Amino acid sequence: MRAVLTGERGLMHIDARTLPNGTVLEGDLCIVGAGAAGITIAREWIGAKQTVLLLEGGGLTYEAAMQDLYRGEIVGLPYFPLEAARLHYFGGTTGHWAGFCSTFDAIDFEVRDWVPDSGWPLTRADLDPFYRRAQPVLQLGPYDYAAESWHRRDPAMIALPLDARAVWTKMWQFSPPARFGTLYRDEIFAAPNVRLYTHANVCEIEANDSLAAVQGLRVRQLDGKELQVRARHYVLACCSIQNARLLLASNARAPAGLGNGHDLVGRYFMEHLEIPSGRVALAPAAARRGMAMYEWTQGVTKARAELALAPAVQRARRILNATVSLEPGAPDSVAQSTFQAITPDVLAAERDSAAQGRSAPAVTAAPPAAERFFNAMTRQEQAPNPRSRISLGAERDALGMPRVRLDWQLTDLDRRSFAQFYDALGREFGRSGVGRVQVLDWVRSANPGWPKTLSGGWHHMGTTRMHGDPRRGVVDPDCRVHGLANLSIAGASVFPTAGAVNPTLTLVALSLRLSDELKRRLV
Ligand SMILES: Cc1cc2nc3c(=O)[nH]c(=O)nc-3n(C[C@H](O)[C@H](O)[C@H](O)COP(=O)(O)OP(=O)(O)OC[C@H]3O[C@@H](n4cnc5c(N)ncnc54)[C@H](O)[C@@H]3O)c2cc1C
Repeated sequence: MRAVLTGERGLMHIDARTLPNGTVLEGDLCIVGAGAAGITIAREWIGAKQTVLLLEGGGLTYEAAMQDLYRGEIVGLPYFPLEAARLHYFGGTTGHWAGFCSTFDAIDFEVRDWVPDSGWPLTRADLDPFYRRAQPVLQLGPYDYAAESWHRRDPAMIALPLDARAVWTKMWQFSPPARFGTLYRDEIFAAPNVRLYTHANVCEIEANDSLAAVQGLRVRQLDGKELQVRARHYVLACCSIQNARLLLASNARAPAGLGNGHDLVGRYFMEHLEIPSGRVALAPAAARRGMAMYEWTQGVTKARAELALAPAVQRARRILNATVSLEPGAPDSVAQSTFQAITPDVLAAERDSAAQGRSAPAVTAAPPAAERFFNAMTRQEQAPNPRSRISLGAERDALGMPRVRLDWQLTDLDRRSFAQFYDALGREFGRSGVGRVQVLDWVRSANPGWPKTLSGGWHHMGTTRMHGDPRRGVVDPDCRVHGLANLSIAGASVFPTAGAVNPTLTLVALSLRLSDELKRRLV
C-alpha cells in the first residue's frame, strides 16, 4: 500500500531515502531544486496557507555519488567538467559561488538588430523592484549601482575622467558570498508550511494525456526506490543544464521532451566570455588620482567599478555588451606576449595606411611611459546561438537518467566584439589623456579562432529561453512553460540574452517576480 504524505505540518526536513517505495508526496506548490532560485522562492512562501514541497536531489552537504549525477560529455569548445561546474546538494552552487553581483543594463533587455534572437519581453524598469528585493537575499548593500553614489559614500572612490557617452563606470557589489545552504537552512527547517525533501532527485515530469499540464513527478533513488509527487503547480529550479536535461528526459508522452514542441529546449546555452585581453597603462596624472574605485580586496571591498561601453557606442559598432575589470599588475604581468597598442597615433597610422590602399600594419608597441599598469580582464556576453546547446547523451547515470552532452559554440559576433570593444576603449583613453590601452595579439588578430585562455565564467544561461511566442521561447514572459498550465521555470535558463554581468542577482530577482506571479495564481 502506498503511503501518502500530504501537507501536514511539523515534519519540515525529511531525508527521502527514509520513505517507503511508492510514497506519494502531496502539496500545493512543488519546487524542484534548492539552490539560489529554489530557496529564494520557498522563502517567499513561508507562512502562507499553501503547502510547499521543496525537492532537493542531493543531501545537506557534498556527496560524491550525488555530484557524479552531473557528469556529462563536452563535444564543442573546451569547457569546465560539468560535475565541477555546479553543486548538487542543498544550497546548490551558492556553495562555491564568488558573490560578484551587478545589474543588467537597459540595453541588455532590448531587441538589437545586430544580435540575432536578442530582446526580452521585459524591460530593466520592469525588473527594478525585484532587483531591489533581491539585494538583501544575497546579503548585498543598498540598491544603488551609481558610481557617483559610491563616491559620496567614500570620497576615495573616484571614477576615471572618461566621457560617459563613450565609456562609463559600471559598479558591482559583492555578496559575502551568501551560501544559501547554511544561511537559510534554519529558516527553511522551521517553516511550518515548507517541507524540504533531500535525496529527492526528480527523474521525470509526467504530463497528462493532452500534454497541457503536469500531473506528477517521479523521484528516483540510488537503490531503485521511487516516489511520486503531486502538486497544483511545479517550478523547475535545477539550474540551466539540469532544467533542460529534465525536460528533454521527460519524453514518455512527448518524444522530443516536454515543452520542446519547437526544438528549443537545451538550445541557446550561453556563458560569459572571461578572457585576459590586454592591459591599461595609466598616465601619471590619472594614476595620482587613485584607483580605489577599481581595485578590490576579497572580503573587504563591498563595491568595485569596471569599465563598459556606452549603449550608443555598442549600437554604432554593432557589438555585444562587455565590461572590463582592471587588475593591478606589473608591466609584464599579463602573458609573455606582444601587444598591439590602441592609441590615437596608431589608429591614425592605420587609417592612413588603409587610405593609401595598404593593409593596416600590425603594431607591436613597447609599453608607453606610465605610472601604473592594470591587466584588463574582459567579461563579454555571449550572443544567443541555437547551435550552442545541451542535448542528451547515450550514457546513463546511476539513476538511469541520460547524461547531458554540452556543445558550447560561439559566433563571429562574439569574436569581433572584443576587438571593437578595445578599439573604442583605447580611443577614449587616448582622447581623455587617461592613458593607453594595449591588447593582446589575439584580440585584433585576423585569425577568427579563440586563444587558449578562452574561458567561461562558470555561468550557465539560456536553454529554456523566455519569449512571448512559443515558436521562439520555451517559457512565456511569466516564466511558465508554453503549453503547460502548471509548470514554471526559475533560474538563468530563462534568460534570452546573457548581459555582461554575472547572473545570480538577476536570476534571484526573476525568482521573486515568479513567486509573486504564482501567489496570484495559487491563492
Ligand atoms: C566557481 C563558481 C563561481 C561563481 N561565481 C559567481 C559570481 O561571482 N556571481 C554570480 O552571479 N554567479 C556566480 N556563479 C554562478 C552561480 O553559482 C549560479 O548562478 C547560481 O548558483 C544558480 O542558481 P540556481 O538556483 O539556478 O542553481 P543551483 O544553485 O545550481 O541550484 C540548483 C539546485 O537544484 C538541485 N537539483 C538539480 N537537479 C535536480 C533534480 N533532478 N532533482 C532535484 N534537485 C535537483 C541541485 O542539487 C541544486 O541544489 C558561480 C558559479 C561557480 C561554479
